[in-house]
Amino acid sequence: MIDVTQVLTVAGVDSSGGAGANADLKTFHNQGVYGASVITGLTAQNTLGVQNILPTPTEFISDQFSSVLSDLNIRALKTGALFDAERVQVVASEIAKSGVVHVVVDPVMVAKGGAKLLTDDAIEAVKTELFPLATVVTPNLAEAAVLLNRPIETVDDMIVAAYDLQQLGPKNVVLKGGHLNDSRSNDVADYVVFADGTGRWYHASRIETNRTHGTGDTLSAFITAHLAQGETLVDIMPRAKAFMNTAIAESIAVGHGHGPLNHWV
Ligand code: PLP
Repeated sequence: MIDVTQVLTVAGVDSSGGAGANADLKTFHNQGVYGASVITGLTAQNTLGVQNILPTPTEFISDQFSSVLSDLNIRALKTGALFDAERVQVVASEIAKSGVVHVVVDPVMVAKGGAKLLTDDAIEAVKTELFPLATVVTPNLAEAAVLLNRPIETVDDMIVAAYDLQQLGPKNVVLKGGHLNDSRSNDVADYVVFADGTGRWYHASRIETNRTHGTGDTLSAFITAHLAQGETLVDIMPRAKAFMNTAIAESIAVGHGHGPLNHWV
């Protein structure tokens, strides 16, 4: 028998396959780890938008955690769309019980098409219950602004925001700057604060495309897959950026709107 590293995504299903648990499982497979999934909800969704959402009953979220964790050897897990405060709470409590060491929290709030994937009253639970359990959090600028309750408009704001997010309890913060509108450059940069308090920028060239559906999910799944294999975030980040760059640049023709990434790269 072949030993395999096993990881878990706790996320919603995207019926069109580009984001959510679907993107996570493709990324896990691509990166050579075995992926399990606890499904927090279903979305009727395509590349044009989210048409409907059906959250999973909270008891059934717990049932899935019990089934997976009582049998598989999960080395790392990630969370994606959690929809509301009740689901944030049950997921946080199951993670706390699980003893899984590497926990990546992607605080998904709004899909690129504008659909809400987290209610406003769940923000506090994300900050107080989920963030303290996280090895890494991966907010984008809009999510970070909501979490900190203030605008983030400049590169200096980004640095301060990343350190302030670390104060909420996660060991490391990957603040994704893709949405920062800096007209001076064609550069998109993420700012990462590491557990030891050091911070640094990771730059990439902006790729003009609307085929970025599932980008956040894919990046956090990549980080999860490699933490599970014992790598450090310092080693993972440059490879994660390179992977994202190729997955976006070598886009595939799927759907009529905001298309998915290429997970074969
Ligand atoms: N649908 C689900 C179930 C998701 O988890 C996510 C993102 O995390 C999305 C949709 C949004 O994807 P995007 O904002 O990349 O379009």
